[in-house]
Amino acid sequence: MKTHWYKLAAADALKQLGSDPAPGLTGAEAQTRLATVGANELVARGGRTSWEIIVEQITGVLTILLFIAALVSAVLGDWIEAIVILVIVVLNAVLGYTQEVKAEQSMEALKRMAVPKVRVRRDGQTQDISARELVPGDVVILETGNIVPADGRVLQSVNLRVEEAALTGESEPVEKDPTLVFETDKALGDRRNMLYSGTIVNYGRGEFVVTETGMGTELGHIATLIQDVVQEQTPLQQRLDKLGKWLAGAALILVVVIFILGLLRGQSDIKELLLTAVSLAVAAVPEALTAVVTIALSLGAQRMLKRQALIRKLPAVETLGSVTVICSDKTGTLTLNRMTVTALDIANHAFELTQAQGETEFELVPTGSIPTPGAQPTLDLLLIAGALDNDAVLSSDEKQPGRYHAVGDPTEGALVVAAAYAGIRKDDLEAAFPRVAEVPFDSVRKRMTTVHRTPQSIAELPASLAPIWERRVNQTVMPPFVAFTKGAIDGMLNICGQVWVEGELHPLDDAWRTRTMAAHDQMAAKGMRVLGVGLRILDRPPDETTDKALEHDLILVGMFGMIDPPRPEVRAAVLECRSAGIRPVMITGDHPLTARHIAQQVSISDNDRFLTGQELDRLSVEELAEATRDVSVFARVSPEHKLKLIDAFQRQGNIVSMTGDGVNDAPALKKADIGVAMGITGTDVAKGAADMVLLDDNFATIVAAVAEGRVIYDNIRRFIKYLLTCNASEIAVMLIGPILGMPLPLLPLQILWMNLVTDGLPALALGVEPPEKDVMRRPPYTASESIFGRGMVQFIIGIGAIMSVLAIGAAWGLWHAGDPRWQTVLFTTLVLSQLAVAVATRSEEHPIWSIGPFTNRGMVLAVILTVALQLAVIYLPVANRIFRTQPLLPIELALSFGLALLTLLIVEIWKAVAHRRHRAR
Ligand code: ADP
Ligand code: MG
Repeated sequence: MKTHWYKLAAADALKQLGSDPAPGLTGAEAQTRLATVGANELVARGGRTSWEIIVEQITGVLTILLFIAALVSAVLGDWIEAIVILVIVVLNAVLGYTQEVKAEQSMEALKRMAVPKVRVRRDGQTQDISARELVPGDVVILETGNIVPADGRVLQSVNLRVEEAALTGESEPVEKDPTLVFETDKALGDRRNMLYSGTIVNYGRGEFVVTETGMGTELGHIATLIQDVVQEQTPLQQRLDKLGKWLAGAALILVVVIFILGLLRGQSDIKELLLTAVSLAVAAVPEALTAVVTIALSLGAQRMLKRQALIRKLPAVETLGSVTVICSDKTGTLTLNRMTVTALDIANHAFELTQAQGETEFELVPTGSIPTPGAQPTLDLLLIAGALDNDAVLSSDEKQPGRYHAVGDPTEGALVVAAAYAGIRKDDLEAAFPRVAEVPFDSVRKRMTTVHRTPQSIAELPASLAPIWERRVNQTVMPPFVAFTKGAIDGMLNICGQVWVEGELHPLDDAWRTRTMAAHDQMAAKGMRVLGVGLRILDRPPDETTDKALEHDLILVGMFGMIDPPRPEVRAAVLECRSAGIRPVMITGDHPLTARHIAQQVSISDNDRFLTGQELDRLSVEELAEATRDVSVFARVSPEHKLKLIDAFQRQGNIVSMTGDGVNDAPALKKADIGVAMGITGTDVAKGAADMVLLDDNFATIVAAVAEGRVIYDNIRRFIKYLLTCNASEIAVMLIGPILGMPLPLLPLQILWMNLVTDGLPALALGVEPPEKDVMRRPPYTASESIFGRGMVQFIIGIGAIMSVLAIGAAWGLWHAGDPRWQTVLFTTLVLSQLAVAVATRSEEHPIWSIGPFTNRGMVLAVILTVALQLAVIYLPVANRIFRTQPLLPIELALSFGLALLTLLIVEIWKAVAHRRHRAR
């Protein structure tokens, strides 16, 4: 029978699950459980089995037509032809199958990469494991932004609020409470002591013990709805699919035309005619196109992964190449997120924190007026408040005693470390000032508050703290509770009523405000992030822990200034964007002065202009669109402003990439053309909404992915162009021949052969063409531009026509002169000139000799192999019988090669002219 976990007390649930919140499960026990209950994953049926792919391959309309053709040949007794057609069908299917399987496999690999990590306690240690390895009994630690990875019973809740819309449809977050025990049956949405897989931690933090995993979860029960999601096709794939269908329709019409043309000319061999028509249809339709595109996209995604960009949605690969605006968070993406406190500021006194070479302690160097004895207690208070109103944890370096670093949010870590160097250790502090309530940081308020019980006598204080606390309170009675708030100074000034001046309270009047802002601006102009700190004395624990209840009438204590250097590689990446016609834009919650300094350091902005969130709120849609033309720095923005900015940029026809990490960023990540989530600091929710995840949180990685995206787009364009040009030439030959009064220019098997060799190796080789040197030195494709744009259609028709005229011209001459080898010459010329086109289309604009003929080894191999195969078809007696070819005289072979070279030359001239015309525009 199913356990109703919500009717059990937390302790009973734990007992029943054989678990304990403190050490958690042992690693060995977890392994055993994993082996019995299986991985924590929803069994998806999205992919196709091999059989399904095979069936799909051989039930295509054209393949069926070929089967019929083979049957006709067989019935009429032409066994060789029937068998060869079948062999070609099989080869074609094998080619298609391997391409499809490869595409499918790389998609699967991508999906596996995207499995999120969860934080559990096992063997008494907190560790991050893959969500797949979670088992019942595991103790999971949750924080804001997590997606709950399994079902479970709540053990601890610190304002833990969870949005359960995925299961209940109710979008209002539910507050969780571990102490509740229900006696009667409750609906899912009312079980406030339970957590369910797939729901979102909106606020607060907590712990729970896993009761159900994988398909056993509530989400698993409704997962049948989710399971059947078909792999979404990218816009390009959809377009090519449509093109494929259109071509298939056109081909069928063509079949009829050729058939009728043949009949009109008195062709008596109906079978031959039928076969030709069918073969031509097969040749005309680029069946391989969609599969090859999928391969190109997913191989591209794998290459991006090597550069630390994880693609979550395949369409992103093709969109990346046309990105025109990259909006990036400042902290951690443009900068290292390695925060160090270097300045302290209290009323009347400014200090710089410096660390002498080789010393383990920071030294405070006053930068303003000479510090009075009264300054020290306020400084200590500032450091204590900064370390207490803080979720980072201090850890000291075992190898270098006296060296500190912190685990957690870098901004908070910097405060903990600074306090430690001043002799104030966070663990001691927390023991003496236990936290009783908190209002977490959010990027709209830009501050956070914690409430602490204070020790009631000096005797309760750890020895290390006693002297400090003594100095501050001077043995007067301590208030029972104190609330500390830290955050952006502009907001803090609105909620502070008094200021702490050398142990005395003063009203925070205009003079103090001005002095505070001046001190702030001085720090911010150096690129520092500034945090203000205030406190509030409470007689009893707060009834309500909300920002409204706690964040008012504070006493301003002082400010921290911290530096966060730009990532060294970012400047080069920004300049690369510029030369590639892409605009980098900085978006930050920090103060405009801080933002501007960093923007100038990394060359994002060459003017002094910026806009703040407040200004964004005031501007109309049109004004904002206008302003975004030359403003590249947006400061003090909240996540909702990101939506407005994306809208403004998109209105101007931009393809916008936007970064984000928090829960609130999810809508912007969805709205952006490319939503980019931070891999290290990002929440599950942001990652879930994103198209791409930066594993290293680095701006330069976005740029690298864009460069890869351009290469992939170029390569796809290349083989579309190539394949369709070849097909055009074959069709043209078949149409022109009869018009000139010649017999069928190409025999069915010859067409099929050509289709096989040219669609095969050279097309694949084009798909892996190495990047051109100037991919990031030219403007992006515009959003409205079709992949068939920039003269591709003209190229296909023009070059296709020229190829067929050259081949048929030569053949016509020989045919007239009564040379029986005319058809083999035609056949060979066409195959060789198709190779020439493959080689020449390796670059859209640069001549082949300038990019180096041997730089794509796949192509060199493809050319050698295809030429060898063609020679075999001409000179091997067996092949002569099968393909009805004749050994060519050396001069005739030379003629074919010569015409292929001529084709190469013509394509190069075509490229040069088209390129010049394009540039002139
Ligand atoms: P960014 O977009 O650059 O990451 P944030 O939204 O993280 O900016 O921070 C915006 C502002 O909020 C900062 O300038 C700082 O004043 C304040 N702030 C940042 N982190 C914290 C924190 N942990 N506690 C309190 N205030 C913070
Ligand atoms: Mg931040």
